[in-house]
Amino acid sequence: MRAPAVRPGWPADAGSVTLLSMFEHPEFDAHEMVAFVHDRAAGLSALVAIHSTALGPGFGGCRMYPYRDEAEALADVLRLSRGMTYKAAICDLPYGGGKSVILGDPRRDKTPALLHAMGRAVERFGGRYIIADDVGTSLDDLAVMRSETRHTAAATDAAKQPLPVTAWGVLNAIQAAVAHAFARSDIEGLAVAVQGLGHVGYPLCRFLRERGARLVVSDVDAARSCRAEAELAAASVPADAIYDAEADVFSPCALGGVLDDATIPRLKARLVCGGANNQLAEARHDAALAARGILYVPDYLANAGGVIDFHQESIDDRPSAVLASVARIRAITASVLVRSAATGQRPLAVADAIVAERLAAARARRRPPSA
Ligand code: NAD
Repeated sequence: MRAPAVRPGWPADAGSVTLLSMFEHPEFDAHEMVAFVHDRAAGLSALVAIHSTALGPGFGGCRMYPYRDEAEALADVLRLSRGMTYKAAICDLPYGGGKSVILGDPRRDKTPALLHAMGRAVERFGGRYIIADDVGTSLDDLAVMRSETRHTAAATDAAKQPLPVTAWGVLNAIQAAVAHAFARSDIEGLAVAVQGLGHVGYPLCRFLRERGARLVVSDVDAARSCRAEAELAAASVPADAIYDAEADVFSPCALGGVLDDATIPRLKARLVCGGANNQLAEARHDAALAARGILYVPDYLANAGGVIDFHQESIDDRPSAVLASVARIRAITASVLVRSAATGQRPLAVADAIVAERLAAARARRRPPSA
């Protein structure tokens, strides 16, 4: 037997991956397919991961980012595509989980040739992967890819107008959680600490402000904090101070992995609900939050607005219909919290169990009858 093939140039530390250890990767979680896509002439190096097609084609964004190396890109694409399976399943949508990452700096390396090559790569999956925009890619980039493949999001006219669907979903999750945790039907006067004022965080602040919430915000980009102060009467704090903010709700809308051993003890909020993906540094931090009496709304439920939007576009793509559809996150969150209270299981465990039940049922329906 030959020795395991080690990809030249991959780091030798614990995060590195040999080709033969792919199936043991900590983020692998039984992915159906992981593809390495390369087009030298177009300057494209990308990974496409399809976690599950049990419920339907894998749907998920294309992230373009200057990853340190392939190992970092692989860990990211695996974690994110799994998250997409969970978002679609918890919302009972007919999609699976997929994600792609392009290795490169979008400001420097993104060219029409690269986008065409990515479109051709998506086409080769024959509809098993539907590509959407994400960090480093835009609706305009999808339009270029659409000349090569029809398996893209945002294909309708109305969908070309960017709508803050993720922020709208997070707002609805916060409203459901506030009703559950604080036994009140509005958020007026509640203090919400929002970390990150980008595509999700800023419109979320606007929605919260319109409903009378008080805002404490942080962003590493001072111009964004200043804008929130001026436009939304927000109080801004330095980036690291957001964990100490006197707030009822903490809403992480910047990076993943922010809830850890150092930050959880500092939180004043009794509720955590935000738009960032993979907010828990490790799975055990869900229990750490609960031990402090903090209710944690699963990130993949709160931030599932994008996949609901995609589904709704195929039914009725008017903005009012899309926002009404995304608002389902409120009822789904409420039902998870009710089941959590009834069973004593934490909300994340309840949501994970619902996802597992739906995936198992879908796989059972697909399994050929035994001979
Ligand atoms: P974005 O890049 O538009 O905004 C992120 C913001 O966070 C930026 O303003 C950035 O300056 C700020 N930031 C970075 N580090 C920070 C720190 N340490 N403290 C405070 N602020 C910091 O990104 P986005 O599209 O708003 O996405 C935010 C998060 O939500 C990401 O985790 C993303 O994966 C997740 N998400 C986004 C969408 C979407 O529709 N955009 C959907 C689902 C999940």
